[in-house]
Amino acid sequence: MAKNFINLGLIGWPLDHSLSPRIHQAALRELNLGGQYCLYAIEPNNIQDIAIENLLDHIANGEITGLNVTLPHKQIVLPFLASLTPSAARIGAVNTIFLEDGLLIGDNTDAAGFKNDLLQLPVEKNAPALVLGAGGAARAVVFSLVDLGYPVYIAARNPEKAERLASSFNNIANTPIQVLPFKEQSLAKISHEIGLLVNTTPLGMTPRLETCPWPEYLPLPAHACVYDLVYNPVDTLLIHRARQAGLPSCSGLGMLVEQAALAFERWTNHVAPRDVMKQAAQLACKTQTSQRIYK
Ligand code: NAP
Repeated sequence: MAKNFINLGLIGWPLDHSLSPRIHQAALRELNLGGQYCLYAIEPNNIQDIAIENLLDHIANGEITGLNVTLPHKQIVLPFLASLTPSAARIGAVNTIFLEDGLLIGDNTDAAGFKNDLLQLPVEKNAPALVLGAGGAARAVVFSLVDLGYPVYIAARNPEKAERLASSFNNIANTPIQVLPFKEQSLAKISHEIGLLVNTTPLGMTPRLETCPWPEYLPLPAHACVYDLVYNPVDTLLIHRARQAGLPSCSGLGMLVEQAALAFERWTNHVAPRDVMKQAAQLACKTQTSQRIYK
């Protein structure tokens, strides 16, 4: 392989529907960089650690330039890394690995990806944000929101998980993060205050296009901007309802592209061609979403 060949890839399971190869390969092509982006599907089992360690050895010896990490390995990789960037350490999860001064470093570009994309939107900053869900992506989102100074509510079906998430970030939050049940009645009570609604659950994602995280008979918060982390499809039922209610809205595609762009810049030291990466992501989404149920 040529000396300057840029070997990138993604660790996760399953990876069949990942858009990352198309996004990164488009960037490599646009910049005339020789390289590839491979999928490393590592099944979660009792030998996963060996597979992960082997792969990370290839970064350490320079054969692989860098890797992305997705579910379910974002936390599993932590013990194999020499150090974490401040945001990865604070979030407790890694989605990007690179080599610096011979050491394996873990970063989390989901948080900055969300933040940079959010800053493009017309959001009332003093009004509280309501985050639906308390999983891995919610950690990056809540971190970004408190970092930006938003008062934050978290509504989750698992209250203990939501409380743990809140307590991870309460010491950097201007106002204590409030947890509420993921129930129509609880959401209705605070709806009038909300300036930003963020869906971090997989509800609405292919193939369950008919699902929506917001209760069917409850109007969306009247003054909110709606941010749906789901990007496949780009037009989820939640986004469709936001548009019908005349609310500003956006899908997770911008965050997906921005987190990829930030990782690409870490690995290659080139400014990422974001427009080209976005076009590649949009095209890949269109070809993957075979069915739409509304419009
Ligand atoms: P995750 O760690 O599995 O978390 C999912 C969260 O949604 C959990 O809190 C889960 O609750 C909750 N949930 C799942 N089904 C639910 C239901 N029927 N009702 C209520 N809550 C439900 O997954 P993740 O990594 O955070 O990803 C979540 C979504 O964000 C996915 O669609 C993913 O594609 C998207 N995402 C997008 C980007 C982007 O760049 N745009 C980045 C990361 C993730 P329990 O804990 O009770 O199971």
